[in-house]
Amino acid sequence: MEAFEYTALPARVIFGFGTLPRVAGELAALDCKRAFVLSDPHHAASGAARLMDALGKLAVHLSTDAVMHTPSDVTERVMAKLVASNADCLVSLGGGSTIGLGKALALRTDLPQIVLPTTYAGSEATPILGETRDGQKSTIRSMNVLPEVIIYDVELTYGLPPALSLVSGINAIAHAVEALYAREANPVISNLAEQGIAALGRALPRIVSNPANRDARSDALFGAWACGSCLGAVGMSLHHKLCHVLGGTFGLPHAETHTVILPHAAAYNTDAAPAALRRVADALGANEAAGALFDLAARHGASTSLRQIGMSESDLDKATDAALQSAYWNPRPVERGPIRALLDDAYHGRRPSRAGA
Ligand code: NAD
Repeated sequence: MEAFEYTALPARVIFGFGTLPRVAGELAALDCKRAFVLSDPHHAASGAARLMDALGKLAVHLSTDAVMHTPSDVTERVMAKLVASNADCLVSLGGGSTIGLGKALALRTDLPQIVLPTTYAGSEATPILGETRDGQKSTIRSMNVLPEVIIYDVELTYGLPPALSLVSGINAIAHAVEALYAREANPVISNLAEQGIAALGRALPRIVSNPANRDARSDALFGAWACGSCLGAVGMSLHHKLCHVLGGTFGLPHAETHTVILPHAAAYNTDAAPAALRRVADALGANEAAGALFDLAARHGASTSLRQIGMSESDLDKATDAALQSAYWNPRPVERGPIRALLDDAYHGRRPSRAGA
């Protein structure tokens, strides 16, 4: 065993089928009595309505204002409602966008959060918040934004369409891939990363062929928690930087962008972090990681090119510049030529090569 350092994050996790009604007991355990509930328009009539029922008089307001990339003007609008409601906690039901809004409010108020995730993005398990202001996305790390309680109710994910399940699951896998070659990599998180990749790698094809498969849905949600925990525990590298730029500056959809970029980022780092990428391949039951990640997307119908998800070819230079603007850890040095080649491959949806190697 090599030397390592590891700081565990506090986490209370309830995982199962039909766990949503546990929210009232969790509120009481936090000594809270006035919940400000957050969701998105999609869940207003379904999950959020059930949540409001389960909370009864404990819910003081329902906001369905959440949108992707946590724009600060939306947060400020909802913040005014939160102050007026005199709430003593936040309960967020939805994907990363809803959970992001809850975190942005927690940062400003220090209120405790209970979250009920409905996608595989993993934000619920991290002390990270990305916010967008004037087209610029910035990320902070603060224990104030780490949710106190996560309630995973597998039934909340049944409605996640197969195509969205696939890209959301690959978004989760990306956290675990980068955790395996992180500078702060440690045996606890690397184990969790392998488990998360393996659980999602097994579950996603089954969900695409039968979205009602209970076992596959619970494997995928477990994988999402494992991968989200990796994101929360260690620093991320080139892949997350590129997705952050492409989402925040060019408005590309979050999970779809991760799905396109991941095989290329894995290929870029293969020679510099061979043991980590070997573990990814093993977890996927494949010979080689980058190709297996590309096939997981391509064989099950996900977009594999930036062009397909709304990127303009004329923006590739600007995206390259943005990816090189600040320094961050990556196993292989981040250099202009190879990064431009990587983005070109991703734009055209080519099978990953070790760009510029
Ligand atoms: P999302 O929350 O925007 O959800 C995507 C779409 O799926 C939305 O239209 C939503 O209404 C719908 N949806 C969600 N759950 C559903 C369900 N169960 N059934 C049917 N439809 C459902 O997207 P996301 O990918 O979950 O999250 C993306 C956002 O989260 C981005 O802003 C990203 O930056 C952020 N994020 C943050 C972290 C972090 O640690 N801070 C981690 C991952 C993602």
